[in-house]
Amino acid sequence: MSGKINIAIDGHSSCGKGTLAKHIARELGYLFVDSGAMYRAVTLYLLNEGISLQELQDDPAILGNIRIEFRYNQEHQFYETYLNDISVESEIRGMRVSRYVSPVSAVKVVRDFLVKKQQQIGENKGVVMDGRDIGTIVFPDAELKIFMTASPEIRAKRRYEELEKKGIHVNYQEVLHNIIERDAMDSSRSESPLVKAKDAITLDNTNMTKLEQAKISLQWAKGVIASIK
Ligand code: C5P
Repeated sequence: MSGKINIAIDGHSSCGKGTLAKHIARELGYLFVDSGAMYRAVTLYLLNEGISLQELQDDPAILGNIRIEFRYNQEHQFYETYLNDISVESEIRGMRVSRYVSPVSAVKVVRDFLVKKQQQIGENKGVVMDGRDIGTIVFPDAELKIFMTASPEIRAKRRYEELEKKGIHVNYQEVLHNIIERDAMDSSRSESPLVKAKDAITLDNTNMTKLEQAKISLQWAKGVIASIK
């Protein structure tokens, strides 16, 4: 026993899962993995190569051409997503990818491909991973599972502000519409729908500050770590 645990953070789009997961990982010295970025990178690859979902399903070996890595950027002090050796960190956050990522994520061969990679990353514990199916499919044995939610309007506002800050100009109504649409698709798909794991703790952050969320989640994590030592 390494004394380390895996922490699964699932929930709706733009709830701040990534921000919270990064914070917990930094405080505990754990590895942070953004599983959504992996689905986004696959989506970008398909868009760039002009490969349809039907073509992918007919020839899943296409996925073998996709190499996704997270490399640390010293200057900006965060992990950047690389697709076949090229940083795609900002491209995968734009609306072109956001519009298409949910249909791509509903494809079984894509999920099988990425879930396997995610499970390998978590083999030795000490990982905080955020996504939609981490507590249910990727790490069903995660020692701590958090399910995050907040109202669609507050999530759209936060997303809009985050994109604007990065210089990516979007329309608020389109962001809201995209969030509602992705929630519906993610929750209703037959392959690994977004559902709360039975043993997950719900964190509704509609009226919470980032600091409050971070504090309470770290308390939960430290409590679990202490109990398994
Ligand atoms: O987390 P993020 O919003 O960046 O994820 C983008 C999309 O990737 C989600 O809307 C969802 O369709 C998909 N996704 C998924 N399973 C995960 C993570 C993300 O299906 N574990």
